Amino acid sequence: MSVAERFALHGKKALVTGASKGIGTELCRVLSEAGADVVAVARDAAGLAEAQAGVEANGGRCLTISADLACAAEAERAAKDALAAWGTIDILVNNAGVSVPKLMVDQTVAEWDFIQAVNLRAPWLMARTLVPAMMAQKAGKIVNVSSQTSAVALIEHGAYAASKNGLNGLTKVMTAEWAAYNIQCNTVCPTVTMTPMGQQVWGDPAKLGPMVAKIPSGRVAQTVEVCDVILFLCSQASDMINGQDIFVDGGYTAL
Ligand code: NAP
Repeated sequence: MSVAERFALHGKKALVTGASKGIGTELCRVLSEAGADVVAVARDAAGLAEAQAGVEANGGRCLTISADLACAAEAERAAKDALAAWGTIDILVNNAGVSVPKLMVDQTVAEWDFIQAVNLRAPWLMARTLVPAMMAQKAGKIVNVSSQTSAVALIEHGAYAASKNGLNGLTKVMTAEWAAYNIQCNTVCPTVTMTPMGQQVWGDPAKLGPMVAKIPSGRVAQTVEVCDVILFLCSQASDMINGQDIFVDGGYTAL
């Protein structure tokens, strides 16, 4: 098998959550350019249409599913709808995420619960719904999009860091329970990336400047740089990587 074949996704069906903006929209393009068909999940119809156009421009099929992943029943329904439409999902990328940056003394219980529901509970619900079909075919890839905040403290990120640390732990248990079925589960942990969330959290130059100063590469990540690592973790080339947290952080957590 050639290098190109080992990194390709021809014939694979990928489900991407948070596909309507930022990293998720770019990821739909990248996975489809590698040959995958894509189920795009989010709430915003216009953003989903953009993701669909990106996939179809690459010659892929794209199914869009509107769902509010803060709601447990909707997360499970989205995964079931994908299975009903396409049979098996070979690749799950839990990318949808929210951040409500506040000092811990100011964060509300409702905000805390919302962040955990989208960032942590939904990935578990999506995975447990899709994984029986992966087990049956003895193959699957799950990539959970976490954050550099899973390894380092950032002020105003208490609830968010808890959700992303939780996601890293959940991913390791996914590996422990599902590796025997040839399913690989890993996280990708980006540094600041200038998506709508990146703008929301780091748009203020007074916040961004000191953050970038701590990144040895001297800049934030581009969405495509995060997506290319996810692509690798979705491909056969990464079959021996399981239960790992892969940091796309320009060296931030190395110091
Ligand atoms: P983004 O631009 O804000 O996009 C977030 C995506 O999540 C959107 O497609 C949004 O879709 C979806 N989403 C949010 N709440 C949802 C809900 N209740 N139900 C369904 N979908 C929902 O964020 P991004 O920067 O691309 O982030 C992608 C992932 O990377 C997240 O997990 C984030 O935590 C992580 N990350 C980002 C950064 C960064 O600096 N940008 C750094 C580290 C990690 P709808 O609004 O249409 O529902």
